[in-house]
Amino acid sequence: MPELPEVETVRIGLRRQVAGRTFATAQLLHPRVARRHAAGPDDLAAALRGGTVTDVRRRGKYLWLAVGEDALMAHLGMSGQLLVGDQDRPYPAHLRARFTFTDGGPDLRFVDQRTFGHLLYAPGGAVLPSVIAHIAPDPLEPDFDDERFAARLRARRTGIKRALLDQSLISGVGNIYADEALWRAGMHWARATQTLRRAEALAVVGAVREVFTEAITAGGTSFDRLYVHVNGQSGYFERSLAVYGRAGRPCPRCGGAVVREKFMNRSSYSCPRCQPRPRRGHW
Ligand SMILES: [Zn+2]
Repeated sequence: MPELPEVETVRIGLRRQVAGRTFATAQLLHPRVARRHAAGPDDLAAALRGGTVTDVRRRGKYLWLAVGEDALMAHLGMSGQLLVGDQDRPYPAHLRARFTFTDGGPDLRFVDQRTFGHLLYAPGGAVLPSVIAHIAPDPLEPDFDDERFAARLRARRTGIKRALLDQSLISGVGNIYADEALWRAGMHWARATQTLRRAEALAVVGAVREVFTEAITAGGTSFDRLYVHVNGQSGYFERSLAVYGRAGRPCPRCGGAVVREKFMNRSSYSCPRCQPRPRRGHW
């Protein structure tokens, strides 16, 4: 799943390419792409026609185009891509939606190999669509409150990694960046949140912000060539990953071997020396 840096990379590209432009046509080419729009794909297309994209916004992993007072939300799912390019370029195999603009310039395409992604029209949602109002702010939002986050984190009775993946506490963090941030903070993923000191909790959110910022600079992480920028290019942050996906390889800090452990039907990667397992914890 794309995490915050990958979605932010798409947002930056989209904003540059489509902000200020007015939709001429919206073609929804697969029934599943508008499955969450109760009135159906034709209604969604009609709602967009003539609307001007005023901004492209994001909270956590959620992305939307502000269209007047309303929003067009894009859930990228596992494999969704938003691509902008010359209208004459060939149609890809998994094209699910295509949008043209009144200026006759590059079109916007939603391509999704596995059809888990979808588009949703949110009336009145330009600032924050109501369907994601329950999602916690992400640590790159200007009004994210580190002290409040630290206090809420320490009040939980869970493991630190589970807490970082809880989108009602902090949004945008998934498996990759949770492992990377915890490695930077020198903390094992199973560390019990109620044992954290205030400074440790603040250090964790600082590490999350730091790894997000570096990953955005690198254009995000591209694991299976599906997470691409609006021009189809890939990010290169995987070269900078310290532990994620690197079982058996040396920790960049101490040279010890990175280990992979089972975690919630997935994996957690950590350095046993830099991130010692707590004597008691939750996992
Ligand atoms: Zn190490």
